[in-house]
Amino acid sequence: RKNLEYISTGVRSLDDLLEGGVEVGSITELIGEFGAGKTQICHQLAVMVQLPKEKGGLNARALYIDTEGTFRPERIIQIARAKQLDPEKALENIIYARAYNSDHQMLLVDEAKKYIESQNIRLIIVDSLINHFRAEYPGRENLASRQQKLNRHISQLHRLASLYNLAVVVTNQVMSSPDIFFGNPMKPAGGNIMAHGCTYRIWLRKAKEGKRIARIIDSPKHAEKEVAFAITEDGVTD
Ligand code: ATP
Ligand code: MG
Repeated sequence: RKNLEYISTGVRSLDDLLEGGVEVGSITELIGEFGAGKTQICHQLAVMVQLPKEKGGLNARALYIDTEGTFRPERIIQIARAKQLDPEKALENIIYARAYNSDHQMLLVDEAKKYIESQNIRLIIVDSLINHFRAEYPGRENLASRQQKLNRHISQLHRLASLYNLAVVVTNQVMSSPDIFFGNPMKPAGGNIMAHGCTYRIWLRKAKEGKRIARIIDSPKHAEKEVAFAITEDGVTD
């Protein structure tokens, strides 16, 4: 087996859970309810990838595809400071793109090919992967076209991950009301395509006293366990 590379999450417990961090060449999916910490982890990873290898990074840049308008430069600045990085440089090293609909989102991923290598991008974030698809293809009657398109999008991301040896991290909000499309409200949206499309799936949930819990679901590689983490001024922490 080839030597795998990882991007540290900057959180010991999460790195333990992931057995090193976010894996290069794969798609890691962060699943969870509103406020669980998905976007916070995305912000932190966009900073972590910039660190030198001995500090858990890849000395590289991130492409941040934001579909919900929840990217916050000031949060990057806070996290960068906590990691002893120049905050302005840290921001410059994040290529930010706002995706306005699912076609635009797919186009952004497609066009990324042109500059991934020249820009030294080793992490692509899509936060969130499916909200546009969910909004544009509502109900059971659109199930097939939605899944087909989502499948194409995920394949496209897989290709970039292996072709350019980079990590892909996507988020997926858990439905709080039953999704007609998936039946079980506690099942992450995206159905089978998502379950089989992403390499690793991390389930995040809120716990007592502002704590968060993460677990890996359905992983053939990882031990079944749960770890705790927190979100503070400094970012995501143990
Ligand atoms: P959604 O599904 O709505 O996108 P999410 O999983 O992306 O939710 P986040 O936006 O990552 O959720 O988490 C938001 C939470 O992170 C806030 O409710 C707060 O508890 C915590 N948080 C964010 N910024 C800070 C900060 N500067 N200091 C402490 N906690 C913070
Ligand atoms: Mg979010």
